[in-house]
Amino acid sequence: MANHMFDAIRAAAGAGDQPFIETLDGRRWSYRDMLDLSGRLARRLVERGVEPGDRVAVQVEKSAEALMLYLACLRAGAVYLPLNTAYTLAELDYFVGDAEPRLLVVAPQRAEAARDVAARHGARIETLDETGGGSLMDGLDALAPDFDDVARGPDDLAAILYTSGTTGRSKGAMLTHDNLLSNALTLVNVWRFTAADRLIHALPIFHTHGLFVASNVVLLSGGSMVFLSKFDPDAILRLMPACTTMMGVPTFYTRLLQHPGLTREAAAGMRLFTSGSAPLLADTHRQFVERTGHAILERYGMTETNMNTSNPYDGDRIAGTVGQALPGVDVRIVDPESGATLATGETGMIEVRGPNVFSGYWRMPEKTASEFRPDGFFITGDLGLLDDRGYVQIVGRGKDLVISGGFNIYPKEVETEIDQLPGVVESAVIGIAHPDFGEGVTAVVVREKGSTIDEAGIMAGLGERLARFKQPKRVIFVDELPRNTMGKVQKNVLRDSYKGLYG
Ligand code: ATP
Ligand code: MG
Repeated sequence: MANHMFDAIRAAAGAGDQPFIETLDGRRWSYRDMLDLSGRLARRLVERGVEPGDRVAVQVEKSAEALMLYLACLRAGAVYLPLNTAYTLAELDYFVGDAEPRLLVVAPQRAEAARDVAARHGARIETLDETGGGSLMDGLDALAPDFDDVARGPDDLAAILYTSGTTGRSKGAMLTHDNLLSNALTLVNVWRFTAADRLIHALPIFHTHGLFVASNVVLLSGGSMVFLSKFDPDAILRLMPACTTMMGVPTFYTRLLQHPGLTREAAAGMRLFTSGSAPLLADTHRQFVERTGHAILERYGMTETNMNTSNPYDGDRIAGTVGQALPGVDVRIVDPESGATLATGETGMIEVRGPNVFSGYWRMPEKTASEFRPDGFFITGDLGLLDDRGYVQIVGRGKDLVISGGFNIYPKEVETEIDQLPGVVESAVIGIAHPDFGEGVTAVVVREKGSTIDEAGIMAGLGERLARFKQPKRVIFVDELPRNTMGKVQKNVLRDSYKGLYG
């Protein structure tokens, strides 16, 4: 029976002798092991009553087995639903109530507390730990390794991924087999992945970046990856000579740059570093080139759309841009109100259309309808512009736009100016309610160690560079910006912290 996504994975696996995953404790899985383990797990799912279309919610630590469980869901025709390990029990209860999975798989230490959650929402519960133990795996070896994959077409659901919740409550994005397959095949092509690649995988696998971008690209190229349970610069530098690629969030790169071991020699065997999930500072890009000779390839995607744009493999990787539309993906910039397409260089709403774009938010038909245009474009919520070579520059999220005294202020523009001042590491510009201006432009700044730059110094530095209405009304200094697990600056947290600033 045809199974759209898994048939492609099976084809890439070939005879299966080549390595697929290894972990730092020395365990290894070949593609043959992947086929056998995902087959056994698919049988286990069926044993536990999982039927095609059922959701399987999974909140576990990163492990090869957890990835095999995703593959087992594809094969069993179930809908894989990974959850951030940081979610509290109350949050877990919300997601399980929303998604109504047939099965909930949790870490053993959470089992006791999660039993009530599962019971309340009619789910069965199993456990899985980071070394491949747990009730889900009990007696698994006794099951036959082959499994008759359930028929799934391109438009059948493969997964529900909740968005990161950076701008509000997370929404469940429904992703089909073809959303995943089409995007992964495109990325294999444009990033030139082959069976000879060995990827350093230090991202979580509950998010689209580590799960789909990284793992699906490896699977569909027949390459291999080293799974790290978390970002560990020492381990990454040790692995580099024997690996070829790494995918990361910007904080990976800023932290690697702080490591004296990051040198041209250390990175000589690598062919590609990619960055996404949050903006990579142009400065980080330049420093990385200086230190290693590698231009980090920045790309842009979302939970809802997989990847939309990428800087080129060959050709200019331009710092501060997220590159051009991927083959098969349409990107346009429109006036957020009228929906009219804007000219090159004009800033507006980024909209995308293509086989990568999700089929809607889980159980939110009104929200889904309001985020799509009649011609099928998805309204990303990100603001940006296209230059004359088709490169996209993101200027920030629509929700982070500051409107002060009736003027639109794009935080990125102000942040870029502040970040260039001597003694500044980085900044976040937010709008805070202001009695006269509606919102007051407010800068939250991280200083370099030992720097004494103060509010007056920042203001003096901006005086000649930015129009008066864009200049911050106040500058606040902090030791670090609040970030979530994907390295995204949590501007809602900042807005909340300083909400009374202007009285
Ligand atoms: P929520 O939608 O719940 O508020 P979220 O948008 O952070 O959370 P994700 O789907 O994980 O959830 O993130 C997608 C967003 O990440 C994009 O809409 C964009 O704002 C941002 N992003 C991704 N890649 C880049 C990049 N290279 N540069 C700048 N921003 C990026
Ligand atoms: Mg979002």
